[in-house]
Amino acid sequence: MTTPAVSRPLAAFSNEPVNSFSKPDDLKAAQAALARVRASFGQEHDLWIAGARHKTGDLLASVNPSKPSEIVGRHHKANAALANQAIEDAHAFFPEYSRTPVEKRVEMAARVAAIIRERKLEFDAWLVSEAGKTWPEADADVAEAIDFCEYYARQMQRLASPEPLVQMPGERDEMIYLPLGAGVIIPPWNFPLAIMTGMSVAALVAGNTIVIKPSSETPTIAAKFADVLLAAGFPPRSFSLCTGSGSVVGDLLVEHPKTRFVSFTGSRDVGLRINELAAKPRKGQIWIKRVIAEMGGKDAIIVDREADLESAATGVVQSAYGYQGQKCSACSRAIVDEKVYDAFLDKVKQKVATLTVGAPELPENYMGPVISESARKTILNYIETGKREGRLIAGGDVAPGDGYFIQPTVIADVDSKARIFQEEIFGPVLAVTKARDFDHALQLANDTEYGLTGAVYSKNPEKIRRAREEFFVGNLYINRKCTGAMVGAHPFGGFNMSGTDSKAGGPDYLLQFLQPKSIGEKVS
Ligand code: NAP
Repeated sequence: MTTPAVSRPLAAFSNEPVNSFSKPDDLKAAQAALARVRASFGQEHDLWIAGARHKTGDLLASVNPSKPSEIVGRHHKANAALANQAIEDAHAFFPEYSRTPVEKRVEMAARVAAIIRERKLEFDAWLVSEAGKTWPEADADVAEAIDFCEYYARQMQRLASPEPLVQMPGERDEMIYLPLGAGVIIPPWNFPLAIMTGMSVAALVAGNTIVIKPSSETPTIAAKFADVLLAAGFPPRSFSLCTGSGSVVGDLLVEHPKTRFVSFTGSRDVGLRINELAAKPRKGQIWIKRVIAEMGGKDAIIVDREADLESAATGVVQSAYGYQGQKCSACSRAIVDEKVYDAFLDKVKQKVATLTVGAPELPENYMGPVISESARKTILNYIETGKREGRLIAGGDVAPGDGYFIQPTVIADVDSKARIFQEEIFGPVLAVTKARDFDHALQLANDTEYGLTGAVYSKNPEKIRRAREEFFVGNLYINRKCTGAMVGAHPFGGFNMSGTDSKAGGPDYLLQFLQPKSIGEKVS
C-alpha cells in the first residue's frame, strides 16, 4: 500500500466527518471490512522496542467481548528487561529525534491522519471486534483519532512560530518551546484508537520520544497503530510499543529515572498511583517528572423544571448508554427537579425499553457488550447494590447472548450518599435523583469527588448563567448531551479526581509536552 500524500501547507482544521451507517451501501462496505479483519483474527503480534521487533513467547490473548471464544490477537508481552530497554533507548534517541525539524514532525503527524483516514473501515472493524463498539461509535473513535493528529499538527506549527514578547532596548528577546524527553504513554481501552493516537502523536509532534504501554484489553488496535506510525515516517526508535501488564511493566516505566513525563488516561486509582510513584525521584534522576493524568468521572445531567423534557430524556439516554456507558463522560447521574421527576422517569423508561443489546456489528443493536467478564461482574455488583439503594425501573441483569452483555439499567430515587451516586461504575447504569429545586440540583451535581463532564437542561437563562458559574466540571454542556466532545470545539479534561484537566483537543494541550526557554540576546 502506498503512503497517502499530505497537502502542504495544511488547510484550516476541520473535524473529520462521521458515518452513521444508515445507508445500506455503507453498511455493506463495513461488513466487508469486518470480514477482512476477521480473516486475520488470532494473529501473533510482536513487541516493537528500540527500533526492532521482539518476541518473548509470553502471550496475551485479546478476545472479542461479544464472542469471547474468538481470539482477536495474540501479543508478546514485554518483561522487565524489555521495558527497561524501551525507556533507555527512548532516552538515548531523544537528542537526535528532538532535532527533527518541526515541519517534518508536523508532516508525519498529518500523515498518520491520512493513513488512518484511508484505512477507516478497517480500523472501525478492529474497534467493533476488540472493543465491542457499534459501527457509529467505532467510526467516531476513528474520526477523533484523525482529528487529534490534524489538530496537534497545526498547534505545533503555531507554537513553533515566534512568540511576541516585550523587547528590551538593545536586546532581541524570544521564547521557544523545547520538547521534554522520553515519555511514557498509558492509554485506556475505551477509546483505544483515539486516545492512544492523541496522546502519542501530541508527544511525538512536540519532539519527544515515547514508550506506549497500551491497555491489555485492546492490544491489537495498538499494534495496528504502531504500524501506522512507522508507515507515516516516524523513525523506528522514536517510539516503542511495550505491551504488557500495567502492574508489571507500567510501574517500572513510570519509576524509571530516565522517564521525563507520563501521559496517562484511565481510572482514578491507577492515575493516583502513577502520580505518587512518579513524584519520588530515583537515583540518577535530574528532573521532576511531569504527570498528565486524565481520570474517571461521575457525570451528572441536571433536568430543570423549565427544561424541554423530551430532549432532556433523549440526551440522558444517549449519554448514559452510548458505548454501554463505558465513556468517562457518560451520564451516570440524572438529577431531576421534583416538579418534572415522574414525567421525566416515564420518558426515560420508554426510551430505554427501545434500546437493543447484542453483537455490535449488527446495525439493529444500539448497545454491544461491556469490555470483559471482570467488568461485567463489577457492574452487576453495582446493580445489586443499586437495587438496595434505590428503585429499579429498567434492566438490572445480564442480557442474552454469548458476549458480556448487560441490560441498560435505570435505578430511581437514589440518595446522594449512595454508592451508585458516588462511585464510577463504567457501565450501562443510570442513577436518578430527585432535587427540590435548581439550587439543590446544583448542590447534588457537585456532591462528588470527580468533575469531568456535566449538562444542564433548562430554558431559563438565569439558571444557565448559574450553571456556567457553579457547576464544577471541566466540560459543561447546556441543553445537549454530556458525551461527544469534538476536537477543537470542546477541549477535554476534568477537575478534582477527574485529573489534571489537560484539555485534550484544545489549544493548550501540547504545552504539557513542551518546556519553554526564554532567550535574551544583547544586540547593541
Ligand atoms: P485503568 O484500569 O486505569 O487502565 C488504564 C491504563 O493504565 C491501561 O493501559 C492499564 O494497563 C494501565 N495500568 C494499569 N495499572 C498500571 C500501573 N500500575 N502502572 C502503569 N499503568 C497501569 O483504566 P481503564 O479500565 O483502561 O479505562 C477506564 C477508565 O479510564 C475509567 O475510569 C474512565 O473514566 C477513564 N477514562 C478517562 C478519560 C478522560 O479523558 N478523563 C478518558 C477515557 C477513559 P492494563 O490494561 O495492562 O492494566
